[in-house]
Amino acid sequence: MARIHLKSCLAIATMDDQGTEWRSEDLLIADRVIEAVGPAVQAALAQNPAVDEVIDARRFVVLPGFVNTHHHLIQTLTRAVPAAQDAKLFDWLVTLYRVWREMTPEALHVGALVGLGELLLTGCTSSSDHSYLVPAGAPEDLLDETIRAGQSLGIRFHPTRGSMSLGVSRGGLPSDDCVQDEDVILRDCERMIARWHDPGPLSMCRVGLGPCAPFTVSEALMRDTAVLARQRGVRLHTHLAETLDEDAYCLGRYGRRPLAFMESLDWVGPDVWFAHGIHFDDAEVERLGRSGSGVTHCPTSNLRLGSGTCRVVDLRAAGVPVGLGVDGSASNDSSNMLREVQLSMLVQRGRYGVDRMPAREALWLGTRGGAALLGRDDIGQLAPGKAADVVLFDVEEIGFAGALHDPIAALVFCGTSGRVHTSFVNGRAVVRERRLVGTDETELFHRATRIASGMVERAKARSGLDALDFGATRRKAQ
Ligand code: ZN
Repeated sequence: MARIHLKSCLAIATMDDQGTEWRSEDLLIADRVIEAVGPAVQAALAQNPAVDEVIDARRFVVLPGFVNTHHHLIQTLTRAVPAAQDAKLFDWLVTLYRVWREMTPEALHVGALVGLGELLLTGCTSSSDHSYLVPAGAPEDLLDETIRAGQSLGIRFHPTRGSMSLGVSRGGLPSDDCVQDEDVILRDCERMIARWHDPGPLSMCRVGLGPCAPFTVSEALMRDTAVLARQRGVRLHTHLAETLDEDAYCLGRYGRRPLAFMESLDWVGPDVWFAHGIHFDDAEVERLGRSGSGVTHCPTSNLRLGSGTCRVVDLRAAGVPVGLGVDGSASNDSSNMLREVQLSMLVQRGRYGVDRMPAREALWLGTRGGAALLGRDDIGQLAPGKAADVVLFDVEEIGFAGALHDPIAALVFCGTSGRVHTSFVNGRAVVRERRLVGTDETELFHRATRIASGMVERAKARSGLDALDFGATRRKAQ
């Protein structure tokens, strides 16, 4: 059992129920959990002085690791694709399906290493994923690659077994070679839960189920997935209320707005969380609050795609659990969790006014808010017995000069580089000296770049250059 002593931390934001913060105090990790924090550390050390490592933490702001509650890891290989840079969601999707369908198991594995690696480097220690595209001809256990990547990096992982079943020939958005039979999907959901889901305390992997969206799966699959999730005691996740186009689609196809459609399928409740949740009206916000369904706010993605602004303050006032998500890297185009915390503060201030989203509220969304969406009470806070998911941000750098009146808030207001100095997950170091432990980032960069180019080249060859406009330097006439 490793015991690690963080000594004289510049500041500690515990994010516990009382919002306790400490200055120039200590934190003690014992094996996978927090043993003590604040003045209690001295008492613990007086009882048992043996430690394996002491870290001089005088230059560090110490936080519980962030919790990312929405991602699509394959998309790290399709960032800044020219034909999708300026497109709205539906056009953006139709363009990128053509590239994503070129994924191989290696591509998904490497995409996951990149996305999860970036998350670890920016202070995230727990992440979900929503991989929903399994191309025709891919191995049946393709989506396991994300879990293997997460294990190799040491991040706490909540993959959702995503799915698409409604191809264009049945009135859906994706091309038919991007969707799967519904029986195959449900069987694989069962397989992934049986193989990977660990419901116990301090679990490093919990599987959820995630049909992609109302416009990419059938009504029957949406309903059957909810039944299966409840039989197996796993959580449900999907996109909802992201765009006005989605409203029009649901009204046209189902005669209901998106939330009413999901309610009709029993797809609400404390075991459900939705990504985006932008276009809820007042009555829907109230209903969401009563049902206990959660919402992931993805500020960067919403800005990038011009989708709108999530009503975070109204949702929280109605009792809706809210967390943060970087969303897939084709609409971000980064997995920088600290930036997401920063942007959530700025975007919500833009919507509601300067006093409605203090820095510490944004930190709460990124830690405790996310933990709640994933159904966990053992992460997101630094308190005795909770998981030793601890991140150390070095604030002795130029970007924080003049800001250390309040080092914790400075992280949200300044925090320009975003890189964490040291990070622990379940008491194990996963980042040291701003680098991933056990992963050669340069080699990973070159491998990912090579695979990404291959996917785009194959997509070009199959779809035709003109249709995709890849690689073209497009400049609008001034
Ligand atoms: Zn998404």
